[in-house]
Amino acid sequence: MRVERLAHRHRGDLLRITMSPGKSRGAGQLLVLGHYDTVYASGALKKMPFRVTSGKAYGPGTFDMKAGIVQALFAVEALQRSARSLRKRVVFLWTSDEEIGSDAARKTIEAEARRSDAVFVLEPSFGPRGFLKTARKGVGEVEIIAHGRASHAGLAPHEGINAVSELVQQLARISKWNGLNAGATIAPCIMEGGTRSNVIPERARAVFDLRALRSTDMRQIDRRFQSLRPILRGARLEVRGGFNRSPLERKNSAALFAKAKSLASQMGFALGECTVGGGSDGNLTAALGIPTLDGMGAVGDGAHSTHEHVLVRKMPERAALLAALLASC
Ligand SMILES: [Zn+2]
Repeated sequence: MRVERLAHRHRGDLLRITMSPGKSRGAGQLLVLGHYDTVYASGALKKMPFRVTSGKAYGPGTFDMKAGIVQALFAVEALQRSARSLRKRVVFLWTSDEEIGSDAARKTIEAEARRSDAVFVLEPSFGPRGFLKTARKGVGEVEIIAHGRASHAGLAPHEGINAVSELVQQLARISKWNGLNAGATIAPCIMEGGTRSNVIPERARAVFDLRALRSTDMRQIDRRFQSLRPILRGARLEVRGGFNRSPLERKNSAALFAKAKSLASQMGFALGECTVGGGSDGNLTAALGIPTLDGMGAVGDGAHSTHEHVLVRKMPERAALLAALLASC
């Protein structure tokens, strides 16, 4: 296998590992995505050291997603040992900044995805039964800044333009957009404005979390934000941001999931699927129209928390599933 270290100036280096089939085999590529960054601060291992207790492996990043990378290693070993060789080149890409939005890795992920016929993402599976993630919401963030004019709240309230009032009325308007698109949510998560209790505020600001299941809804919500106009006379609105990760729509994963499900049943276990609200690098590859199957990592619980762990006895089954998919896609 060819192992390349792709250096990055501001983030951790990426690792690209290429496994090629025998010469007589056809063209094509499969991409396996993993990230080795975690959400924990340096030194977290002192407080939550790696340990295996009653069949559970605990530690920072075990579930999200180091166990997924371990499973990929075992899948490779199984493929190398089995008589059945690969039909396509397989590229494993281990990235370093997924938890903070994949700014550094995005270009490489997208370039490899465009060369690929299918993408498998080693993010954790969902729930105790290890459902694969066949749909993920698109994610965005929008900031609205209302600009008014300050004045004395007692002596000259009429001379002011109240930015807090403007923003509150906009919020009431925006909250009605919830429910217009099934599966889409628009949640105000930060709000601030004003300076003193006797000053008509000249500035107020709100930040919204945006989620959408379908890209058509995502575009519609972006357009609604862009077309907001001030309600109070003389007020001004600034709207920044929008969706930055498109949804992973089920149509991009349905065929791969059907294949995975049938392989799993041949191996004697049932495989379920689910939709989740959080984004991953799978959103990036599905947005390019590349078939993407996410949640191919470990079975466990507690991602991003002190009780993060994986079920060790489930790891062989998931490694086998990945190997079977790589051999048959
Ligand atoms: Zn992850």
